[in-house]
Amino acid sequence: ERPLWQQEAREEFPIVTAHPELAYLDSAATSQKPRAVLEAVQTYLTTSNANAGRGTYPWANRTTELVESTRERVKEFLHDPEPGRSGVHFTSGATEGLRTVARDWLVPYLRDGDEILVPYADHRANLDPWLEAQRLLAERGVQVRVQALPYQAGSGDYDHVALRQAVGPRTRFVAATHVHHVYGGDMNVHRIREAVGPDVAICLDAAQSVGHLPVHLDDPSLDVDFVVFSGHKVMALPGSGAIWARNVRGPAFLPEGWQGTPNTAGIVSLRVALDWLDAIGPERVAHWTTMLSTRLTDRLGRLRPYEIVGCQASLPADSALPAEQRRRGIVTFRHRDIPSDDLGFILFSHGFMVRADSMCQAGSDGRDASVRVSLHVYNTVEEIDRLLAVLASLA
Ligand code: PMP
Repeated sequence: ERPLWQQEAREEFPIVTAHPELAYLDSAATSQKPRAVLEAVQTYLTTSNANAGRGTYPWANRTTELVESTRERVKEFLHDPEPGRSGVHFTSGATEGLRTVARDWLVPYLRDGDEILVPYADHRANLDPWLEAQRLLAERGVQVRVQALPYQAGSGDYDHVALRQAVGPRTRFVAATHVHHVYGGDMNVHRIREAVGPDVAICLDAAQSVGHLPVHLDDPSLDVDFVVFSGHKVMALPGSGAIWARNVRGPAFLPEGWQGTPNTAGIVSLRVALDWLDAIGPERVAHWTTMLSTRLTDRLGRLRPYEIVGCQASLPADSALPAEQRRRGIVTFRHRDIPSDDLGFILFSHGFMVRADSMCQAGSDGRDASVRVSLHVYNTVEEIDRLLAVLASLA
């Protein structure tokens, strides 16, 4: 039930192994860091810390080289088919990444009368920047129509049929999410490209997919123009992240303005984190967390007072994927009688660290709180079963 590679991988996380009585079940918020990442940061800061792109002495050269090679590492990790034509820009995380694409690429790209489609029920980091872009353009007299990317009622997936109908001759851009941070489902990005056609730019919020499942840009089913993710969710330090840009549709993407000192330690950590994840294998990570979340969903679904939120609850009839494959290590639920924040406290009193609020979901009024269990490679079947036992005792 517990493969050797997983036991060994878990041992790499000092914070996890130091607290066997606790279970960290909040990796969608941020991931824990393997020893290799912690050591690499320490080594970098104690042997060659300097600024990047400035200075000509060895530490500065080494820092510049680390930053530049991390750009290539990101492309490689994402299986970029044309690394010579793409760009990687470092950010502090997905929020800054999406804001940068909106401000520095979308605003100059759009013309009066253009249309964009954006998600209104995903993470607010993937909504606010696009609305802000619309406002900025309106101030300049450029009117852009923003449409809601349609969802299938109750399924937690986009409605790709309605999307096809929503696309018009002036549609220029779609912002989508790869894996939903509350519903835990794969948002079937390949169907977005099918629906919008080849000329519409797609920006993918991959905050919950990179590091959790294979993200292969050389796969024609993942034909997107931007991929944005956070370093801290892929086992690197907080304050790191990246934008990958294909630079094929529209003007080349170069963030505007003076670029200050980058987060060099964060970038070093990102490079080592991607090495670590590649050595484990994103397929294995995806298989493991999908197995754990399927186990939790199936058993929780049989406990009467719990309602599972998102795609697990009702799979769209025409979904191309079976339920098993659509659960990506995130399970969100509510108890019929116990408010979610109370449930969060109860679970922590038993050693489970979960998220219990409305999770920055766009459009949330704060009254729709739920409990989210999100998993990574270090979590175990034993943790899930312990959690289920506590949840069952509250049933
Ligand atoms: N998008 C999604 C889907 C997320 O889950 C998150 C983080 N919860 C973000 C964007 C924002 O990421 P960050 O806070 O690292 O900027």
